[in-house]
Amino acid sequence: MTLALCPGSFDPVTNGHINIFERSAKLFDQVIVAVFNNIHKQSLFSLQERLSFLRQTTAHINNITIDSFDGLLADYVTSKKADLIVRGLRDENDFSYERLQMVMLRKMAPQVEAVYLMSEQEYTYVSSSTIRELISFHGAIGDFVPPCVNQAVKLKFNQ
Ligand code: ADP
Repeated sequence: MTLALCPGSFDPVTNGHINIFERSAKLFDQVIVAVFNNIHKQSLFSLQERLSFLRQTTAHINNITIDSFDGLLADYVTSKKADLIVRGLRDENDFSYERLQMVMLRKMAPQVEAVYLMSEQEYTYVSSSTIRELISFHGAIGDFVPPCVNQAVKLKFNQ
């Protein structure tokens, strides 16, 4: 059985992330989508909100579970006995970032492989940071995020 991990901040989850989850769930037996609860970084959405969005948007995929972690990804991956991590690649900036991250991860957890899925063209320009920026300027985000996120933003930020 191959266990894959999709780690990230998911602040908030976007349609680009969901596309990566769906493709991962077809490739691997079990997938854990894991929210990195970075105590050094202020997030727009709380850990509980991010977990709730992810649970709602992956409810249709029966081999996906949702979890969270803090601390080092290498420790978390090892504790879960995951075989690999999956990351999405949008462009060369993602590539450069991921290459450095992965060298470090594999130094600490050499048993873990990493698999990269190229972003579908329609999601190449979608990022959580752009969504957060749109929210701050009261821009429409409905085309880029799942309905539960759009709804929550309207309630939380009175939009
Ligand atoms: P981080 O906060 O670690 O940069 P994110 O939570 O933004 O991570 O994203 C988690 C993973 O999803 C990363 O591998 C990132 O490259 C990928 N990703 C983010 N947005 C997209 C997208 N639009 N299409 C494909 N992959 C994406």
